[in-house]
Amino acid sequence: MAPLSSDERKASAEYRQLIAGDPCVYCGGVSGTVDHVTPVRRGGTDRADNLAPACQSCNSVKGTRSLLAALLYMQNKPGGVNLTPPLARRSEAPHASAGSARSAARAGHDAR
Ligand SMILES: [Zn+2]
Repeated sequence: MAPLSSDERKASAEYRQLIAGDPCVYCGGVSGTVDHVTPVRRGGTDRADNLAPACQSCNSVKGTRSLLAALLYMQNKPGGVNLTPPLARRSEAPHASAGSARSAARAGHDAR
């Protein structure tokens, strides 16, 4: 790993403190470790833009896998990571139930 400049080291340390209480980026649980998004073994750095809060379990599972490989692996585990983006999930569920409630109401109205 290339050595960081003193500014990068400072930013990295500040960022680590900033994300310390954030949820795990993979499962949403309580973090406790800092994950290197691109693993150090794969050329990832200690710079802030390569760090993310992660729980011990997800961090170990991810190991030296690339981000994509790790997400695909986690998705296929029981109770694993849901790769559907949260905004897409939020817009799917309410529309589906509102739509079926509307058609149910319409069906009831037409029957009268
Ligand atoms: Zn996790």
